[in-house]
Amino acid sequence: MATTIIEPGEILPPGPETPFLRRAGRASVFGDRARRFMALAEGHAMADFLRFMGHLAEAQQRTLDAQGAPLLPGAEQIALCKAHGMPPLGTQTLRRDPSWREGLQRLLEQVESQANDATRAAMQRLAALPEAELEAFADRLLGGEYAGLDLAAAPLVGAALQVYWVRLAAAMEQADFPRPEVHTLCPACGSLPGASVVRIGAEQGLRYLHCALCASEWNMVRVKCSHCESTRGIAYLGVEGGDEAVKAEACDACKSYLKILYMEKNPAVDAVADDLASLALDILMDEAGFLRSGPNLLLFPGAAAA
Ligand SMILES: [Zn+2]
Ligand SMILES: [Zn+2]
Repeated sequence: MATTIIEPGEILPPGPETPFLRRAGRASVFGDRARRFMALAEGHAMADFLRFMGHLAEAQQRTLDAQGAPLLPGAEQIALCKAHGMPPLGTQTLRRDPSWREGLQRLLEQVESQANDATRAAMQRLAALPEAELEAFADRLLGGEYAGLDLAAAPLVGAALQVYWVRLAAAMEQADFPRPEVHTLCPACGSLPGASVVRIGAEQGLRYLHCALCASEWNMVRVKCSHCESTRGIAYLGVEGGDEAVKAEACDACKSYLKILYMEKNPAVDAVADDLASLALDILMDEAGFLRSGPNLLLFPGAAAA
C-alpha cells in the first residue's frame, strides 16, 4: 500500500466566494454516473456488476426526468431549519410523499431485463411488499440499520431514495440551505458523505464531501478527517499500481476512512461509480484496521455483488 502523509496547513482553506454547497444537476447527475459505470466496466474483474449498476443509473436518470418536483417542506419548517443550522430535507424529519415509491416501481420495470436471477428475485420480493413495509424498509435503510435488512433488495430501494432526494434538493432555493453547524453531515439532507472529491475548474483544488443520498456536495478543507474532523495523522492510501484518481483518506484518531477522488487525475470520476469500482481498496483498508465512515447506497456490506 502506497502512503503519503500531508501535514495540516499545506493546503489553504477556500476564500469567501467559494460555494459551500453544490447541488447535483438534475439534468445529468445519474446520466453522467451511468456513463462512468460503463467506462469503468471495460476490462474490470467485476464488469457484469458495474454494467448492471450503469443500467440502474440510466434508469435513475429516466425516472428523474419523468417525475416533477415532490412535496417540499413548508416555508415555516424551512425557516426554522435555517435558523438552527439544520438540514431542511433531513431524512429523520421529512415526511416522504408516495412519489418515491412510484419512482421505485419505474426503476424496477426498467432494469428487470438486465438483472441476474438473484437481483430479479429481490425485485419480486420488493414488488410484493405492502406499502407500510416498504416505508419501514426505507426508514431502516436511511437510519443505517442494516441488520436483518434484505441486502440484495436494499440497493434498489437506495437507488429510488436517491432519485427522490435529488428531486427534493433540486426543487429548493439555494438560499434555503443553511451553512451547517456540523460539517460532517450533508447540509441538505443530514446524510453521511459516501466519498469526497477534489475538484478542478472554478473550485480548483477544493475538496467537497459527496452526500450518499441527495448527491449534494459541501466544502470541507483538505487534510481533515470527514468523520471526526481531526487534522492530525491523516494519511492517503492507495492500491499499489492502482488508479491514481482514487485514494482512501484514513484517520489515525478515529481509525476510519473515506475514499477521496481527484478530478485532476481524471475529470470523469464519480463519487458513487468510482467507489464501487475500487472495492479492492476497501478490502485493503479493512485489513489495515480502518472502518469505512460513510455508505454507498448501491452496495451493502454482507450482500453478494449483483
Ligand atoms: Zn444530502
Ligand atoms: Zn477521524
